[in-house]
Formats: sequence, C-alpha cells, structure tokens
Amino acid sequence: MATDADAAVRIDLLDVLDTAHAVAPLDPRRRVFVNRNLNLAGVKFVGFDMDYTLAIYKKGAIEELAFRLTVENLIASRGYPPEIRQIRYEPERVIRGLVVDKHRGNIFKMDRYGHVGRAWHGSRQLGREERRELYRTRKIELHSGGYAWVDTLFSLPEVCLYSLLVDWFDARAPERRPSYEQLYDDTRAAIDEVHADGSLKSVIQAEPAAYIERDPDLARTLHRLRSSGKRLFLLTNSYWPYTCAVMRYLLDGALEGYPSWRTYFDLVVVGARKPEFFASRSPFLPIDERTGRPGAEPAATLDKGRVYQGGNLRDLEQLAGLGGEHVLYVGDHIYGDMLKSKKSSLWRTAMIVPELEDVLWHQQLFDADHARAERIEDELRRLDYEINYYKLLLAEAARRREQRAASGESSGYGGDTPTAQAARAERAARCALEQLRAQARRLRVEKEEIEQRVDSAANPYWGRLFREGVETSLFAKQLEEYACIYTSRVSNLIHYSPVQYFRSPPVPMPHELGR
Ligand code: IMP
Ligand code: MG
Repeated sequence: MATDADAAVRIDLLDVLDTAHAVAPLDPRRRVFVNRNLNLAGVKFVGFDMDYTLAIYKKGAIEELAFRLTVENLIASRGYPPEIRQIRYEPERVIRGLVVDKHRGNIFKMDRYGHVGRAWHGSRQLGREERRELYRTRKIELHSGGYAWVDTLFSLPEVCLYSLLVDWFDARAPERRPSYEQLYDDTRAAIDEVHADGSLKSVIQAEPAAYIERDPDLARTLHRLRSSGKRLFLLTNSYWPYTCAVMRYLLDGALEGYPSWRTYFDLVVVGARKPEFFASRSPFLPIDERTGRPGAEPAATLDKGRVYQGGNLRDLEQLAGLGGEHVLYVGDHIYGDMLKSKKSSLWRTAMIVPELEDVLWHQQLFDADHARAERIEDELRRLDYEINYYKLLLAEAARRREQRAASGESSGYGGDTPTAQAARAERAARCALEQLRAQARRLRVEKEEIEQRVDSAANPYWGRLFREGVETSLFAKQLEEYACIYTSRVSNLIHYSPVQYFRSPPVPMPHELGR
C-alpha cells in the first residue's frame, strides 16, 4: 500500500485540532468502552469491516426481509409446506450470544462459565429440572457440531425462524416434522442461499435507504482519522458489486474533498472469507472493476486505489506492511472479526455492538432498580454473616445442653439456674436467627422481583444481553476477551481525539474490594 497521502483529499490541520467533537460524549450511548488500554496515537492503520460495522442495518427491516426470503426458499427449494408462510417474525425471540442445541431443538443462553441459564424449546421455557438434566450433568462441547453459536447479527432471523418452526411442527404436524437437526440444517442452508444467490442483496441494493442507516457523522469520522495520518482499509466478506453499492450509499457525496467513497480507503479487500482470511493462504485477486470479476492471476503487490478479492493475513502483512500492533481492526462479528484476528495476529480490535444503544438506554431507565439490587446484595452478604454467627451459637448451645444432660445436671428451666439462663439465651438466639432468615427471604424475593422486571423489559425470553443470572453472559465474556474497545457505532469515535489514549477502568479483584 502506498504511504503518501491521497492527493484528492484535502488534509486540513484545523480539522485535526478541532476539538468541538473531540470531547467524550455525555450521552453514554455514544461512548467508547475500554477492555484493554489502547493508544490511538500508535495506530497507523485502521481497517473496517463493512456489514453491521460501517453499514448500520435497520434491524427490523433487514431481519424481516431475510426471514421472509428464507421461508420462501424453504418452500420453493426444500419441500416445506406453504402454510409456513403464516409464521410471523418475532424479533425478540433471539439475541446474540445464544446457542442452538440442534439435536433437541432447544436454544439456550450461557453464563461466562459455560453454565446453561435460560433455555427454550420453541416458545416453551425449560424448567429448572429439565435444564439440569439436559445441560448440567455433563460438559457441553460447543464445538462438537451438535451446537450452533448465534454470534453474528446476520444469524438472528435464521435462529428465530428455527425456533418458530420447532413450535409450528410440534403443534401442527409432528408427523411431518423433519428431525430438529434436519430442520436446523435446512434453515441454515436456506438462509445461506438467500445471502449467496443475490436475492437478499438485490432487494437491499434496489432500496438501500429502507435497510441501511446513513450515519451523518461517518464520513467526518473517517476523515478525522485520515487527517491525523492514519491509513484506512476496508476488509469485508461482501463481494464487489454489493460492497460498491453499499459504500456508495454510505459515503459518496458526504464530504467535500472526497469525490467518492474510494478516496477514504488506501486498500479495499472484498470477499475476504473471514474467518478463513486469518489462517488461509488464499491469494489476493485483483478485481476488474469494469466487469466486477476477479482476475485469475494472484496479485504480487497490493496497489493503492485497487480492489482485491480474497487474500489472507500473512500476505497482507507482507505486501502492505499491515502488521503488528499498529493495526486497529473494527468489526462486528465476535468470531470472524474479533476472535480470529486476535488469535492470529497482533492487531488491536474494536467491536461494534449496535445493541449497546438499547442496552445503555435500558440501563439508565432502570438505574434506581440496579442501585436497589446492589444494596440488597450488600445487605444479604451482611445477613449471611449474622445468620452464620447465630447458627454457630445455637450449635454450641445444643452441644453444651447435651453435655449437661449427659453429666446429670438439672434440666429444670425454672428459676435462675445456669441451665435456665442458657435456655433463655438459646431461645433468644433462635428467635434472632428466625428474624434474620425472614429478612433475608424478603430481600431475596424483592431482588428476584427487581431482576424479573429489569430482565423482561430488556427481553422477555432472554433478559439482558450481557448478563445471565448473577454472572455476565458468555457473549459478554467473549467481548471482554477479544475486543480491546467496543462501542455502538463507528461514528462514536468522532467524540474522541484521533490520538486518544483509551484507558481501561481498573477491574478490582474480590480481595481488593474486601469481599
Ligand atoms: P462483512 O460483515 O462486511 O464481513 O460481510 C458480511 C457478508 O457476509 C455479507 O455480504 C453477508 O450477506 C454475508 N453473509 C452473512 N451471513 C451469511 C451466510 O449465512 N451465508 C453467506 N453469506 C453470509
Ligand atoms: Mg460485519
């Protein structure tokens, strides 16, 4: 990749120094959150994924569209009954981070330790016993092939349809139902085809405004990064015609000095086949922009201003010098963008989590509930100590009582004998213990009510995205582990200096908190 600045781009120092935008935003929905210290001053290259990263899809519209097209594909190509057209999309049925148990037709959510929390079979929630029986007696091997991870926003319509089909066949036509596994594989194959055969993309391309949000701050965000001397590149799994159409819609004409979207990027790689991109040795094939097709000859150099298809990390590092910690890659896919790049390279990572906007809004809305739940948790911890103290006291009192009985001491309770005093003290301790236990029960009920209220407002099936029970969810754990920073949309970076030092908040260990 050439390192000289694009002549078409007017680098305006004032823009870099313009601090009007570079103030950490007050609105938490626009903030960047930090898992691991990241100094933007040291970042020379910023790579972007396209779908759900630069291109913010309108959730309801695209999911509904993918859902409908998948239903049609199941009917037309896989022999499913036309009556399944009656099934309506339910956006809340599935969130990211869930796991499909293909064999049993169940979907469940795990906490950070891999324990299964909520689980549903279609619209029937699995009870505690059933869950324990199925998922707590042996370790779940998520990579065994029997399970599927809902790790990208593109998976939501497919898994929602799967869950609805489980209900549909269970209720109406169990005898015509393929195995749950077959049902999953068919749904997966159908949506795969919908993505690959152009049926989904042609609808979006025909009316991008209906499916993609044109973020008014995106162009300026990219410009500010470039103006501070960073080189930008695009690395997407989408193929050239679609990439070109979407990027044109997002950026063309957005900013003076950038005649087309291409002028923001020094390198464009399409059809990258992430996650394989990070491990394979697939060649970079130059795209012939007139025909939109890749050439047959692998590229020996990566030239600025050209578009390539395929490729792999090692060649990108070698041919374009895009290696090490100087690269920040911004993506939305926990596996294909974050985990794989982190495991195969030293690239730093920024994850776009569009759900964060709702999560943070919800968090603010239930602020008082969260604070009350925390106070209850502290109070319960204190009560536990007191309860244990009285339990020990009573055990000791019982031991002494038995000793006295064995040694033939008077067991009379009347008067003011030592035995009578001991009996009164024991009764008082028992009474205190009962009161403490009742208080703890009341607090637990109150905490449960708060959690139910907060969780069902977030999502009636799955509760909060980043939590499961008292723990953080598996999705949250992966985000913590593989994304150096995370935010709801790329343009949130406009609120920070291009040389911002993102510092992670100290995460104290329990002993440092004194708990
Ligand atoms: P990226 O997020 O920009 O890397 O690209 C995502 C691309 O993957 C889009 O073109 C999607 O249409 C495509 N895609 C997402 N899910 C599937 C699938 O299940 N099968 C085939 N392509 C998919
Ligand atoms: Mg993406």
